Amino acid sequence: MTQGQWLQPRHGSREAFEKDFPTIATSQIDVVCPGCRASVKLTRRSPNGKSGGWCQKCNRGVGT
Ligand SMILES: [Zn+2]
Repeated sequence: MTQGQWLQPRHGSREAFEKDFPTIATSQIDVVCPGCRASVKLTRRSPNGKSGGWCQKCNRGVGT
């Protein structure tokens, strides 16, 4: 599985993350969370085409 990276800058909340990544991704890929090593699905896309997901456990955004 692909190694994920923290989204920069860090989002203070899931709501803030979802505002920056408003689109539901059509192709949802799984990456490894850099914090807890769990699988995180990149379910959202930003307006400039970046993929992002949210790790519930770390409460932090993850991308590629
Ligand atoms: Zn995590």
